[in-house]
Amino acid sequence: MSCIKDKLKKQTIQKPKKEYETTDSIFFRLSEKSALKILFIGLISLVSIIVLSIFTTATSLWGGNLNTIIVFLTIFMILIVIIAIVLLSIYLLMYYQEYLINNKKVAPLMLVKIFYRTKNITGYPDNIPTVDPLNGKEILLQVVDASIHFKVGRKIIKACSYLNFKVYKGETFGLVGESGSGKTTITRAILGINKLETGAIYFRGENISRKMKRSEKMKLKKNIQMIFQDPAASLNERANIDYIISEGLYNFKLFNSQEERLKKVTDMLDEVSLLPEHLSRYPHEFSGGQRQRIGIARALVIEPELVLADEPISALDVSIRAQVLNLLKKLQHERGLTYIFIAHDLSIIRYISDRIAVMHQGYIVELGDANKIYANPVHPYTKALLTAIPQPDPKTKEDRIKLVYDKGDIDYAKCKWLEPIPGHYVLAPEDKIDEWMK
Ligand code: ADP
Ligand code: MG
Repeated sequence: MSCIKDKLKKQTIQKPKKEYETTDSIFFRLSEKSALKILFIGLISLVSIIVLSIFTTATSLWGGNLNTIIVFLTIFMILIVIIAIVLLSIYLLMYYQEYLINNKKVAPLMLVKIFYRTKNITGYPDNIPTVDPLNGKEILLQVVDASIHFKVGRKIIKACSYLNFKVYKGETFGLVGESGSGKTTITRAILGINKLETGAIYFRGENISRKMKRSEKMKLKKNIQMIFQDPAASLNERANIDYIISEGLYNFKLFNSQEERLKKVTDMLDEVSLLPEHLSRYPHEFSGGQRQRIGIARALVIEPELVLADEPISALDVSIRAQVLNLLKKLQHERGLTYIFIAHDLSIIRYISDRIAVMHQGYIVELGDANKIYANPVHPYTKALLTAIPQPDPKTKEDRIKLVYDKGDIDYAKCKWLEPIPGHYVLAPEDKIDEWMK
C-alpha cells in the first residue's frame, strides 16, 4: 500500500507545472465546429423551452390554477436565463480567442461571422470568367487570396498566406521553394483535402473551395489527379499492377466491358514504357523509376485535365530523373495536359515549366515566365535559390558565389505585390524594389 502511495507521490512531483505565460493559454481553445454545435443545441433548447412555457401557461390558464402557472413560469424563466448566459459566454469566448490568438480585429457580430464562414459565403463568387482579360488565354485553375492555417495544440501554423496564381490550360506551372514553404499544402487544398482560411480556388471558372455535393466532388476528382513524391509509399503493396492502374477506372465507371478496361490499362502501360506481362506483378518487384511510371499510369489512365505532380522525381535516382521528366513532358504533349509541377530545385522547375511561382514561408515571393525568372531573378530569395543550383562546369563552379538568403527585417505580410517588369511579379517592400532590380 505504502509502495503505491510512494509511486503516486512521485508521479505528482514529476508532473510538469502548467504555464500561464502566454495570453492564448488563459482560456481553452474552442474550435469553431464545436462552438457551432453548442450554439445550435442551445438555440434549439431555448426555442423549445419558450414554446413549452407558452403551451403550459395556456393549458394552466384553461384550468385556472394560478399557483401552477407561477411555479412553471419561474422554472422556465430560470432555464431560459441559464441557457442565455451559457450562449452569451460561448459567444464572448469565441470573440475573445479570435481577437487574442489570431490577432484579428473582428466585427462585434462574431456569431454572424461564424455562421457566415461555415456557410462558405466568403465574398468570393461561385463562378468567374475562364478567359484571362490580360492575354486572352484560357484559365484552367485560379487560386485567389488562399490562406491555409493549421492548429497544432494552441499554436497556429500559417502554412500558406494569400496565394494568388492562375494556371493556363496546357501549360506547366512550377512551384518552387525550400522544404516547408507550403507547396504541398496548397496542392492538397486544390484537391479539397486542406480547407481554406481565406480566399477561393476556381477550376474551369467554378469555385471548388465552397461546399460541394458528392457528385460534384467525384467529377472534380476525375479531372484533377496527383502524382506523388514517393512511388514506394503511394502504391498499394498488396495489389497487383492491373488493379492499381484500374482502380480509377472502377471508381469512376469508365468502361463498358472488361475487354475495354484491359485495353485502356495495357495502352496506358505501353505509354509509360512498361510491358503487358507486368500487369500481374506487385509493386515491390519494380525499381523506383518503374514504380513512378506506374504512379503516372494510374493518374493518367482516367484522363484527367489537371495533374498535380508533387516532387515526382525527388525520390528517384539521379540517373533516371531525366527519363521520368521526359516521359511527363511527352504525355503532356500527347494528351494536352496541364501540370502543376512542384520541386525544391529551380533547375528542374525551369526545365519543365512555362511559368514559375517561387514560394518562401507560405508566401509567393516571385512569379513569372520561367526563362525570365531564371535570367533575371528579382527577389533575393530567388537569387539565392539560383546560386544553389549545382554547376556541371568546374570553371563556372569556382566563379560562383553561393548566396545565402537573409530575410532580415522584411515582413512579407507588409510587402506589396509589385510588377516591375510586365508579367513578372515580386512581393517586395516598395522602398527596396529599385535596389533589388539592380
Ligand atoms: P512543402 O511541401 O513546401 O515542403 P508543406 O506544405 O508540406 O511544405 O508544409 C508547410 C508548413 O505547414 C510546414 O511548416 C508544415 O509543418 C506545416 N503543415 C503541413 N501540413 C500540416 C498538418 N497537417 N498539420 C500541421 N502542420 C502542417
Ligand atoms: Mg512537400
